[in-house]
Amino acid sequence: MKITLNPHAKDDATRNALVAEGGFGKYYTDHMVKCEWNEKDGWAEPELVPYGPITLDPATAVFHYGQEIFEGMKAYRQPDGSVELFRPRENAKRFANSARRLALPEMPVELFMETVETLLKQDSGWVPNKVGEALYIRPFMFATEIGLGVRPSNKATYLLIATPAGAYFDPSKAVSVWISTEYVRAAQGGTGEAKCGGNYAASLVAQKAAAKEGCDQVVWIDAKERKWIEEMGGMNLYFVKGKGAAATVITPKLTGTLLPGITRDSILSVAVDLGYKVEEVMLSIDDWREGVTSGEITEIFACGTAAVVSPIGQAKSAMGTWVTGDGQPGPITMQIRNHLLGIQHGTLEDKHNWMSAIK
Ligand SMILES: *Cc1c(COP(=O)(O)O)cnc(C)c1O
Repeated sequence: MKITLNPHAKDDATRNALVAEGGFGKYYTDHMVKCEWNEKDGWAEPELVPYGPITLDPATAVFHYGQEIFEGMKAYRQPDGSVELFRPRENAKRFANSARRLALPEMPVELFMETVETLLKQDSGWVPNKVGEALYIRPFMFATEIGLGVRPSNKATYLLIATPAGAYFDPSKAVSVWISTEYVRAAQGGTGEAKCGGNYAASLVAQKAAAKEGCDQVVWIDAKERKWIEEMGGMNLYFVKGKGAAATVITPKLTGTLLPGITRDSILSVAVDLGYKVEEVMLSIDDWREGVTSGEITEIFACGTAAVVSPIGQAKSAMGTWVTGDGQPGPITMQIRNHLLGIQHGTLEDKHNWMSAIK
């Protein structure tokens, strides 16, 4: 890797003050990694360079046809002061899957890992220290062929940036959701399984509709039968049936239209480790309503890298409004959240070998 250090890197005191501010996505670390690809030569040698603006020709493909993908992952401070990544190879593999779907070049897992580890080593001072905080790492890639012809780009740019993420979890507040029966996130054969910017661009109007209904987030249902629960905004969903040791933890099945979340996958194991039954199911809007009305569904939460686990309280749709439990985060939701955070911060045993040290 070529290394060009930032002559204006923040000094320790300034950096620590910015990290201590918390928040998300306001400040970026001193460096970024860049890697160019073209059809003829493949991937070039990656470069660590100072973080900063990039210049692109107005006719660059990504601006016109949206050929872009991204990932989101976190590095956590460990009790001994070192820094570890949570399941980074899963992000690398999903990045390659997303690339394939968007006709972008697949970045080899080892090259992806090298870029992440090099940036982390250089900017490790930006990793926050408190539990619930982490350094959020954003790899992304976009089409850089110049021209307005519609075709898979013969050039692409990969960039890697990172931003400190504070603990924005407020345990006193469950998220309210609007179940959208008007808009569709993903259909069979579409890009629902890929992490691409276009999915998000198409979701914003539904997010706006949710806000108009007084809800924090939108919940998506399937495109065909318009009744199966898929996911929430940019997070996967979990439902808890029953209480205590007899509870079953369920999540919508991956049908080809849901984004296969790494947090979702990890919770399937964590719930079993904690002694619960787990099921991947088809769950309809009616199942949701009837389950919370009868009291069979006791807790609902969303999960993803950014917030880890977020409890869901009120659900609203064209068919009415219903509340889960007492609107407060449930005990199993909090237990799963704390267990996952414990593994990530190195205070609980990592029996699945999910944590990856920076060499
Ligand atoms: C990224 C993402 C998720 C969560 O995936 P994680 O790997 O757990 O962060 C869920 N749904 C969508 C639409 C996403 O983009």
